[in-house]
Amino acid sequence: MMQFLDLRYHIKPIDLAAHLFAVELEIPRPLSAELTLTLPAWIPGSYMIRDFARHIVSLSVEGGDRASLRKLDKQTWRLTGVDGAVTVRYQVYAWELTVRSAHLDTTHGYFNGPSVFLRVEGLEQSPCGLELLPPDLQCANDWRVATSLQVVSIEEHGFGLYQADDYEDLIDHPVEMGRFTELEFGVQGISHRLAITGRHRADQDRLSRDLQRICEQHASLFGELPIDRYLFLTTAVGDGYGGLEHRYSTSLLCCRDDLTNAGEEKPAAGYRRFLGLCSHEYFHLWNVKRIRPEVFIGNGLEREVHTRLLWAFEGITSYYDDLALVRSGCIDASSYLELLAETITRVQRNPGRLNQTLAESSFDAWTKFYKQDENAPNAIVSYYAKGALAALALDLTIRHDTNDQVSLDDVMRALWQRHGKPGIGVSERGVEAVVADVTGLDLSGFFGRVLDSTDELDLAPLLDMVGIELRLRPSKGSKDLGGVADRFAVVSPEPSIGVRLRDGGPGAVLAVVLSGSPAEQAGLSAGDTLVAIDGIRVGPDNFQRLVNAAAAAEVLHIHAFRRDELMEFLVHPRPAPADTCELRIVPEPSAGVSARRRNWLGLPE
Ligand code: ZN
Repeated sequence: MMQFLDLRYHIKPIDLAAHLFAVELEIPRPLSAELTLTLPAWIPGSYMIRDFARHIVSLSVEGGDRASLRKLDKQTWRLTGVDGAVTVRYQVYAWELTVRSAHLDTTHGYFNGPSVFLRVEGLEQSPCGLELLPPDLQCANDWRVATSLQVVSIEEHGFGLYQADDYEDLIDHPVEMGRFTELEFGVQGISHRLAITGRHRADQDRLSRDLQRICEQHASLFGELPIDRYLFLTTAVGDGYGGLEHRYSTSLLCCRDDLTNAGEEKPAAGYRRFLGLCSHEYFHLWNVKRIRPEVFIGNGLEREVHTRLLWAFEGITSYYDDLALVRSGCIDASSYLELLAETITRVQRNPGRLNQTLAESSFDAWTKFYKQDENAPNAIVSYYAKGALAALALDLTIRHDTNDQVSLDDVMRALWQRHGKPGIGVSERGVEAVVADVTGLDLSGFFGRVLDSTDELDLAPLLDMVGIELRLRPSKGSKDLGGVADRFAVVSPEPSIGVRLRDGGPGAVLAVVLSGSPAEQAGLSAGDTLVAIDGIRVGPDNFQRLVNAAAAAEVLHIHAFRRDELMEFLVHPRPAPADTCELRIVPEPSAGVSARRRNWLGLPE
C-alpha cells in the first residue's frame, strides 16, 4: 500500500540520550522541480505561536542529482532542481513534556505531528504513509506504540506502517512509544482505550467504568458517535495538568495521584479533576474538532488565526465537561455545584472581567490568555471560565424562555447536524444563528451583553429557576475557593490590601496587585518583596495575620524591596470584597422548579 502514496514519512528515535528523533520524508513523484516544505508554527487547539521548527537540527536532501535546499524563513525550506524522487532527512530535538510537543528519553518517546512532520506545499490533500520505527536498542525492545493513526501493517508491539488521509490527519494523532498501562472499554460498540505512561497506581476498573459512562453521556447528547476508535493518551507525572483534543484521541497530562480514588465511593477532588479533563477533551471530538470555526478551515498553521468564537468552543465544552460528570452519575449534584461555585469564584476574583469582553478574550487568546503576566488578572477574562458560565446562562435562559421545551443540548445537536457532520465551518455569528433557529427566541440582547460587554453575568436569578441559591461572600482565606453550603452563614470580611503573594516564598513577594486596590493606590507593584508590616518581619505565613492585626490602626506601614532598594508604603486596607461564590440547593422547591432541576442535571425522578 505504501508504494502508491505520494508521501512517505518515517520516524525513529535515533538518540535517546540526546533526545533526537530522525525523520525521513520521501517524495517519490514530485509535482514540480521546486518544492516548498514547512513546519507549523502552532498546533490546533492551543492558540499560541510555538515555532516548532526551532527544534529541527540538521536538514538535508538526497536524490535528484541537482536538488538543492535553501531556508526561506524560520519554518520554511525550498528545494530546487528536483528532477525525480527525493528524500528529505532531518532530526528533531524532543525534550518538552507537554501535550503539545515532543519528548524522548530512555523511558519513552512521544510526539505530536506538528513538531515533527514537514508539510509539502501543494500536497496537503494527498494521503500519506507513516512508518513508526523502534529505537535500535536492547533496552527498548519491550517498547510498544499507542496511537489512533490508521493501521496499515504493524508488528505485535505496534511498530510498522500507518497511514493518514492528508496532512491535517497526519498531524492529528499524537504517538506514544514506550511502556504503558492500557485499558479498554466500549462505547456504543466502539473500542476506546486509555494508555497511561509514567508510574501510577490507577484505579483501573473504576476508571474504565467511569470513563465509559462519561463517553456514553456525550455520545447520547449529540445523538451520534462519529468515530471508529478512540484513545486517551495519558502521561502521569508528580505535578502537571493539561489536555489537547484530537479527532480520534486526546493527549493528557495529569498528576499520578489523580488516577487513584483509594476505594472511596465519592470521587476525591483529584480523581474528579481527571474525569473532568477526560470529559472535556472527549466533548471536543464534536465541539471544535468537527464543529469548527470557519476561519480554522484552510487558513494554515503558519501564523495566528483569530476568532471571536472560543467562548463557544472552549466555554461550552467547559460547561459540559463537569455537567456530564453529574449527568452520567459519576458525581452527585452537590459535587457538581461545588465545581460550579469554584468557577464562579475564579471569574469573580479577577477585575479583568470588567475590562475585557468574552469575544475580545477569544480574539486575543494568542497574545493575552496564552501569554499571561502579572497584570493578566486585571486585564483579561478567561474564555474557559466565563465562557462556561455564559453557556450555563444560555442553557438556563433557553430552558426558561421555552418552558423547558428546548435546551442547549438541542443547540449542540443542531450544530453537529448542520456544521459538524457535513464539515461546514461555523461563521463568527454562526452559533447565535443556530440558537435563534433552534429556540425561536430573539436572544440578541443576551448575546450582546454576555459576549460583547463587560456587564456582570447575573446568574442568581437564573440559578433560582432551578432551585439553586447563589450568594457572594468575602473569602475566608487563601484556600477558600467557594463551594456548596446547607445554609448561608454570616462571614465578616477580613481587611484586605488587594494583592496575591507568589507561591513558595522566600519572603512575601507580590505576584499580583489588583487594579484599584489599596496596595495599588499606595504604589506597591507586582514583584515587590514585602519585608515588614508595621515594623514586624512579614512572610507568606504571617502576612494576613499582620494585615488583620494592624488594620485597626487604619494605615499600614509596609516596607518592601523593589529591586535592591528599600521603600516604604502607607496602605489603607479595606474590607475584603464579596468575591467568593456559595451555592445552596433549595431542599423542597415547587414541583416545576424541581422538575427543571432534575432535567437539567439529568437526575432520576
Ligand atoms: Zn478545551
